[in-house]
Amino acid sequence: MSVLILGGTAEARDLAARLVDTGVPVVTSLAGRVARPRLPVGDVRVGGFGGINGLVAYLREHRVRAVVDATHPFAVGISRNAAEACPRAGVPLLRLERPSWAQTEGSDAWHWVDDHDAAAQTAARLGRRPFLTVGRQSLDRFVEPLRDHEALVRVVDPPEIALPTTWRLLYSRGPYGLDDERAVMAEVDVLVTKDSGGTHTEAKLLVAAERDIPVVVVRRTPPPAGVEVVTDVAVAAAWARTRARHRPRH
Ligand code: NAP
Repeated sequence: MSVLILGGTAEARDLAARLVDTGVPVVTSLAGRVARPRLPVGDVRVGGFGGINGLVAYLREHRVRAVVDATHPFAVGISRNAAEACPRAGVPLLRLERPSWAQTEGSDAWHWVDDHDAAAQTAARLGRRPFLTVGRQSLDRFVEPLRDHEALVRVVDPPEIALPTTWRLLYSRGPYGLDDERAVMAEVDVLVTKDSGGTHTEAKLLVAAERDIPVVVVRRTPPPAGVEVVTDVAVAAAWARTRARHRPRH
């Protein structure tokens, strides 16, 4: 075994492809949340490690030489675990995190909030027909504040909770183009999103700007202290290639 990629994102798949192309063995780890995940090239393992201790044990047992945490910016639990486990196992860790949307033109006019509860309250105040693009796992925070609203909810897999009868579900997964988003957003009057960042799902923000509808954005939690962070997949690939050549301490 060589490089472990904590995945579940397009960047993680891109990184796996670049490493496999240059002969670096990789295993991508997926949480197993999505019924039909897009699989990366190279080996794949699925399911939690069993917390920090489980991840330490995995790193040792599989003689992992380096870990790239390429998980979603809002998957804070696994990033925190990796930041604890890697030093304990003596394995170098790099965080690959897609750039925030905070630098996007017009982002200072968005309604930035700290969590999903605040996002729900803000959206309830700003519109009647919110477009919820926050992922299925956070929907419970929105049900009460938006119970009487006509929400359009975009998810990949079916939500595990009952949604208000006034809400409409839209099953789809990105990336999304401008024309797709113009069609989907024709009727909505407020956009709710996390600061997922990157380009794959940014079209909804451009359409919100075109239509001059308010945008509510949940801020990111900063990555764990002391972990080196890069935003560029090529830089992460170069880092991993170098580490793959050296044996870790374990
Ligand atoms: P999370 O809250 O950070 O993690 C909860 C637990 O799930 C972790 O402690 C770990 O279990 C397990 N886990 C998470 N990611 C894993 C991975 N890549 N491989 C193995 N175990 C993993 O995670 P989440 O927010 O539910 O996200 C789960 C996955 O979906 C992530 O891989 C992420 O990249 C992807 N994703 C998340 C979002 C989002 O908005 N959160 C969006 C798109 C994709 P153990 O403690 O048992 O190891």
